[in-house]
Amino acid sequence: MMKQHLLPILTNVQVSKRYWHMTIDTSGMTDDIEPGQFFHIRCSEGAFPFLRRPFSIYRINREDDTMEFLYLVKGEGTKDLTKKQPGDTADVLGPLGYGFKLQPEYKEILLTARGVGIATLAALAQEAGQKGVRCTAILSARSKNDLLAAETLQDFGAEVHHVTEEEGTSDVESVETRMRDIIERKDVDALYTCGSRRLSRLNQRLAAEYGLPGEIALEEQMGCAMGACFACVCDLEEEGKYRSVRVCLEGPVFPLEKVVIS
Ligand SMILES: Cc1cc2nc3c(=O)[nH]c(=O)nc-3n(C[C@H](O)[C@H](O)[C@H](O)COP(=O)(O)OP(=O)(O)OC[C@H]3O[C@@H](n4cnc5c(N)ncnc54)[C@H](O)[C@@H]3O)c2cc1C
Repeated sequence: MMKQHLLPILTNVQVSKRYWHMTIDTSGMTDDIEPGQFFHIRCSEGAFPFLRRPFSIYRINREDDTMEFLYLVKGEGTKDLTKKQPGDTADVLGPLGYGFKLQPEYKEILLTARGVGIATLAALAQEAGQKGVRCTAILSARSKNDLLAAETLQDFGAEVHHVTEEEGTSDVESVETRMRDIIERKDVDALYTCGSRRLSRLNQRLAAEYGLPGEIALEEQMGCAMGACFACVCDLEEEGKYRSVRVCLEGPVFPLEKVVIS
């Protein structure tokens, strides 16, 4: 089923040197939205770039029928998206894919995000806060200036740890020490990650060692986001066998232990 919506843009503002934030009115949309799901957004009014671009839901505001996106200006698509003004229409496909599963028995979760992965995990921190699940987030970025979602996560009740290249605290060894401390001290029930291969491998290793379940949101380049073009294929390893899956259809969230990280 084609889930195309034409929705009013309420705000679209630059929030740091590289990041923008957009709010969209969802009152014309009846679909329920889950953290980890995404929308495939038409960024340009013209013919180029032809392909839509995928963006995770950053914040879901059910009480006032809005949703928010946090995006990094990278190439032509995201550059065009910054030109949208309040009152313009957002042409979006979605919500698409399968989101995060916050199991009812979880009391304490640990999120590790790098770069724009923070945008993807923010909605999960929001849901955890609403459900009374305690949440700790390690947010990794190039510089402090890129850690703009930190306050949002704190607003959701998460305990936030910043690590940056600027401060020399974002190397895998330092993050591992921090993760081990949090897992052991807080008796963490599950791990969630997005945005970095190195941190994903670290999460896989620690999940296996501590016997914890976990999930990973993948950010592959996408063409159609409807399963037709096979641009976003990745591999899962299940019971010793490899299976190729389309991130847009079966993901973007997958069980942490199954994803083959190249
Ligand atoms: C599920 C998901 C969630 C995401 N969430 C966020 C988010 O919340 N915030 C954020 O900032 N970023 C997010 N991203 C990343 C974001 O989609 C990209 O940064 C964005 O598409 C860049 O577009 P661009 O035109 O600015 O950059 P460019 O690098 O110029 O364009 C990249 C785009 O070109 C197209 N493309 C290039 N090569 C191919 C190919 N081989 N096959 C098919 N298509 C191709 C794709 O549409 C691709 O997305 C997400 C990605 C995914 C998959």
